[in-house]
Amino acid sequence: MRKHWYDYLWIGELLYLILGLFNILFAWLGMLFFTIPLLVAVFGGSKAYCSRYCGRGQILSLLGTKWKLSRNAPPPRFLRSRWFRYGFLTFFLIMFGRMLYGTYRVFAGAPLSQTVTLLWTFRLPWQWAEVGMASPWAAQFAFGFFGVMLTSAVLGLATMVLFRPRSWCVYCPMGTMTQGICGLRNQKEIRKNGRECENSGPAAQASGQ
Ligand code: SF4
Repeated sequence: MRKHWYDYLWIGELLYLILGLFNILFAWLGMLFFTIPLLVAVFGGSKAYCSRYCGRGQILSLLGTKWKLSRNAPPPRFLRSRWFRYGFLTFFLIMFGRMLYGTYRVFAGAPLSQTVTLLWTFRLPWQWAEVGMASPWAAQFAFGFFGVMLTSAVLGLATMVLFRPRSWCVYCPMGTMTQGICGLRNQKEIRKNGRECENSGPAAQASGQ
């Protein structure tokens, strides 16, 4: 099959995780992974980001399908349930808010914590990563945000190994949000033509729907 430029976006995702080991300020670039899918859903009414441009999803596909690191078992039913997906999204957003509060505290004068929190629990020392001339609050946000990205990468890899390659997509908070947004946006159209949100994408594939 002919390859397109966007088939290589997984390299960007990999680079992102590597660069964060050396200079934590690169973590700010992760905001692109947050905002682009939302903008595509809001203005395009589709999950094109998930099905085409998501480097995270591409890495999981490569590792699970090409490198055969996945058991390729269907994800458990609860993972696909609405309550779990929205519950996880809520939890994720609360933790994100906590991270923003930590940034605010540093802005208000609290000392910078040069640690990255993995799985919302384990504080990994990250003092070696360059902070440069950035304001302490900007560095604090970078440490916190890198923890969010690393945590989702670890969860994605774990569910890739245990279930289907893109099982993370079933409960990925970005996927849940974009699904919700494009569902709302297309509601009128669904009522009119019975058309589903354009391209429910990898989550549906991962769940075997
Ligand atoms: S659900 Fe999440 S990880 Fe999967 S393709 Fe969409 S944004 Fe990427």
